[in-house]
Amino acid sequence: MKTRNFFVLVLLVLSPAVLLAQRFAQLQPETPVEKWTGKTAMLIGAHADDDAISHGTLAMLQAHGNQVYIVTLTTGNVGTQDPSLSRTQLAAIRRQEEVAALAELGIPEQHYINLGYDDGLLEFEDRKAVVENLVRMIRKIRPDVLLAWDPGRNYQRWHKSDHRAAAYLAADAARAAMWRLLFEGQITQEGLKEYMIPEYLFYNDYDHEDENLWVDIGEFVEKKVNARAKYISQFGPGWKNYKPKLSEAEIKQMKDDARTHVQMKDGKPMEGFRYYRGLPDAIGK
Ligand SMILES: [Zn+2]
Repeated sequence: MKTRNFFVLVLLVLSPAVLLAQRFAQLQPETPVEKWTGKTAMLIGAHADDDAISHGTLAMLQAHGNQVYIVTLTTGNVGTQDPSLSRTQLAAIRRQEEVAALAELGIPEQHYINLGYDDGLLEFEDRKAVVENLVRMIRKIRPDVLLAWDPGRNYQRWHKSDHRAAAYLAADAARAAMWRLLFEGQITQEGLKEYMIPEYLFYNDYDHEDENLWVDIGEFVEKKVNARAKYISQFGPGWKNYKPKLSEAEIKQMKDDARTHVQMKDGKPMEGFRYYRGLPDAIGK
C-alpha cells in the first residue's frame, strides 16, 4: 500500500500539468512588475517607436522609481511614404518624435541612446560591431531587466527585417556582455566590467501565444496613448505628407487610433511579455 501511494505521488509530481505549473512558476518574477522599484530597465529596439509596444510598462517603471533607458539601433531614416523627405530630415524627425514620446512617459532625453545604423538594413551590418556596441551599452547601464524583441523560444521567430535582427542582436549582446574576455578592450581600456543581465521581458507586436506575463497598465493608458500620438511621421497624417504640427482634430484622431492598440486581457488594459530569468544561454529554451 505504501509503495502504491509512493507511485501515485510520483505520477502526480511528474504529471504534465504539474510540470507545466512548476515551469510557469519559475518563469514569473519574484516581485510582480507592478511593484518593481529601484531597478534599472533597458530596452533595445530597432526603430524609434519599437518601444511603443511597452510604453505603459515603461511609464509605470519610471513612475515607480526605476531608471529606464531606451537603446535604438537605427535612426529610422527610411520608413516614410512622403516623397519629399530626405534620410537626414527623417532621422531628425524620428529622434524628435521619440524624445517627445518618452517625455510623455517621464523618461528624460539623456536616457535615449541611438546607435545610428541605417533603417531597413540592420541585418546586413557588421554583426560583431553591432554586438560590441550593444555590449558596451549593457556594461555601462548594467540593467536589472532587458526588454527586447522576442527571439523566440525553441524555434526561430520570424519578425520583419530589422526586428528579427534586433531580436538576435540583443540576445547575442546579453550573452556576450557577461564574458570578461569578449570585447575585453572595454574592460582593459574603457573601465567597464563584464555584466550578466538577470531578467528579461521579451515583447512582440503580432502574436501573443508565448506571453507568460501581463502587466496591468490601467493607470498608464493615457500616457501610452499620448506618447503614441507623438509619432506623427509614422502613425499620423505625416506618414504620407509630413508636417510637424497637427490640428486638434488630427491629434484626437491619432489618440483614438492609439487607443485601439491597447491590448486588453480579462477586461483590463495590459501589456504582455515573455518573461525570462536566468543565464542568457537559455533565453531561447
Ligand atoms: Zn520597428
